[in-house]
Amino acid sequence: MELFKPMDNLEENKDTQKTGEKIEKVKCLILGSGPAGYTAAIYAARANLRPVMYEGLQPGGQLTTTTEVENFPGYPSGITGPEMMQDLKKQAERFGTDVRFGLATAANFSTLPHKVTIDNKTVIEADTVIIATGATARYLGLDAEQKYAGSGVSACATCDGFFYKGKDVAVVGGGDSACEEALYLSNLCNKVYIIIRKTFMRASKIMLERVTNKGNIEILYEHNTKDLFGDGVVEGAVLIKKKGTPEEEEVRIKIDGFFLAIGHVPNSEIFKDYLERDETGYVKTLPDTAKTNVPGVFACGDIQDSRYRQAVTAAGSGCRAALDAERYLSEKVV
Ligand code: NDP
Repeated sequence: MELFKPMDNLEENKDTQKTGEKIEKVKCLILGSGPAGYTAAIYAARANLRPVMYEGLQPGGQLTTTTEVENFPGYPSGITGPEMMQDLKKQAERFGTDVRFGLATAANFSTLPHKVTIDNKTVIEADTVIIATGATARYLGLDAEQKYAGSGVSACATCDGFFYKGKDVAVVGGGDSACEEALYLSNLCNKVYIIIRKTFMRASKIMLERVTNKGNIEILYEHNTKDLFGDGVVEGAVLIKKKGTPEEEEVRIKIDGFFLAIGHVPNSEIFKDYLERDETGYVKTLPDTAKTNVPGVFACGDIQDSRYRQAVTAAGSGCRAALDAERYLSEKVV
């Protein structure tokens, strides 16, 4: 099969100088290099859209911080997150995707073609933009979270829960995500603590009922995490009960896994002047499509999905975004 030519051979990708800014024109610009971005790239490249991808701050996305991925179809023995992302990158490049290191720092979707600034200096003019910049899990900000990253600290129970089979773990957070993570873990682990800083959970009633009815979930209300301890791996957490009150006391729990479920922040800030977002910053797409409110701009992966947030669902949405971009371009050229 003949592969597509590299981007620098293409007429429309020649750099032009305009008022000192470096401007480049492309048909399809993809921002972000998680499963959504790479899948969009594979489809866009095979449709001859000659995509240019900017990888963003964390090439490979959130999966590169996961150890083993065991739930992505097609890998019966599992695969590490970084390896999987390398494979996806190779597959996208095989069809001619121009993968570049760089971060989108500004966007202007007010006129056609759309403009995206990379690293505050290069302006890309794009007929279509596929946004796959993902979301970032919130952490508490403890030094211990970095110290034990991949060694007991995780922000994804579905990804890492299996490694704690039969063990005791804790989930921080009182929203629906925390309940969902705790319920998932409760089917694998011996015991699951939910650590909540307030006297109540903000989760929906039904989720609250489910966690309350699970025999191996213990809810620790009015507890804040102070630190984690362990020799190389997490062996326990130091909590402060009733912080700032006369009854304040330090509590230690023995756990092997510490899961954060205190929310995600979608990486959508630079698009906020143009794209419709929900109240938490997730980009809204039109029902059953990857189309945003701006024609020619598409969103896929975690930036538009607060619900599933799985590699496989992100990949599926990346495919939809590329197909929508391809159709948009073919409808424009009469
Ligand atoms: P939420 O914002 O709903 O909840 C975050 C939780 O983390 C809150 O309990 C909050 O506590 C706690 N928290 C935040 N910062 C800290 C901190 N520094 N220390 C301790 N605790 C902290 O996020 P979710 O991810 O749970 O949910 C996001 C959205 O997605 C919601 O609308 C939710 O309903 C939805 N969702 C729906 C699901 C479903 O329908 N199955 C599954 C998962 C999510 P506090 O209350 O004290 O602020």
